[in-house]
Amino acid sequence: MKKLSILGSTGSIGTQTLEVCRNIPGFEIEAITANSSIDVLEKQALEFKPKLVSVMNAEKADELKTRLRKAAPNIKVMSGMEGLIEAAVLKESGTIVVSVVGNIGIKPTYEAIKAGKEIALATKEVMVSGGSLITKEAEKHNVQILPIDSEHSAIFQSLQGNNMNKIRKIILTASGGPFRGRKKSELENVTVSQALKHPNWNMGAKITIDSASMMNKGLEVIEAKWLFNIDVNKIEVVVHPQSILHSAVEYEDGAVIGQMGVPDMKVPISYALTYPNRIKNNFEKLDLFKIGTLTFEKPDIDTFECLSLAYEAIKKGGTMPAVLNAANEIAVAKFLNGNCRFTDIPVIIRETMAAYTVKDKYTIDELLEADKWGRDFASKINM
Ligand code: MG
Repeated sequence: MKKLSILGSTGSIGTQTLEVCRNIPGFEIEAITANSSIDVLEKQALEFKPKLVSVMNAEKADELKTRLRKAAPNIKVMSGMEGLIEAAVLKESGTIVVSVVGNIGIKPTYEAIKAGKEIALATKEVMVSGGSLITKEAEKHNVQILPIDSEHSAIFQSLQGNNMNKIRKIILTASGGPFRGRKKSELENVTVSQALKHPNWNMGAKITIDSASMMNKGLEVIEAKWLFNIDVNKIEVVVHPQSILHSAVEYEDGAVIGQMGVPDMKVPISYALTYPNRIKNNFEKLDLFKIGTLTFEKPDIDTFECLSLAYEAIKKGGTMPAVLNAANEIAVAKFLNGNCRFTDIPVIIRETMAAYTVKDKYTIDELLEADKWGRDFASKINM
């Protein structure tokens, strides 16, 4: 029996993780957390009977506590960062699924690693911002970080049995998002609802906007660098609109090993939870005859500047990726709230990065400081 804490159980990955746990036997849910969606969290709590439930928003946590008092008096209800960290280090849990939105995941992931917990990581921002610190700490505590991000799961799967072989390059596939093929001038007036229409994947709002700007792929380049300890120059982004080849590894002999499947996050979630085993499920299977054609293109980095900004940030290194990520989170929130145009997102990030003095080596507190600096600076940019 594998015992799990799910940080961010009401979001897209969180609910799909619970779906996997309903579908595959052998999991017990010890803790679940949410930002503020207490209706969904309450239902999950009554179904999975965890020991701990936590809500970021303190008022909502109080309301949930009142609701659960009669129906499930044994479930402890906590709130804020304290509750999130408690779920991350909970004595009973062996594996922590990190699927919160954005940088809020850094501290609890760091604490979970220090407590020796296995990490199933969906929140790429944790690796983007704190990659060097997180991987160093994971090595120190002999903690395995299993990727849930579909591309990184594909790379991880393609590396199995090849640990000793030299990698020539990683082929990181990208769908290209809803605006693939458009030029910059055609993106100036796109609306939030247009940007939220992803062709292949059904995901949360933040990551869907990141996919439309291709920042998602930029963040994934940085995530891959840290997860697989590889030079970013050896990571090649390839636009593959069908999202069937989820990524691949090319070895020195020219052999390319990749992982294919329908675009369904439940597959990488299952692999992270059952690794190294593969367990039968009832999810949709790939029908190559139905797909027919797979195509590949070069990314348009003039239009999708966010991708180059991410390469720039990781090449600067130190705390710069944390600032890139923080500025992006703010810029995306501004766009979603109607406070800037879609094409302003890279402008806000570029200005924030240009104003920042990078710290090469950093502690967890310095990392969180850099994140805060990026957020504050980006918030003040008026478009
Ligand atoms: Mg991905």
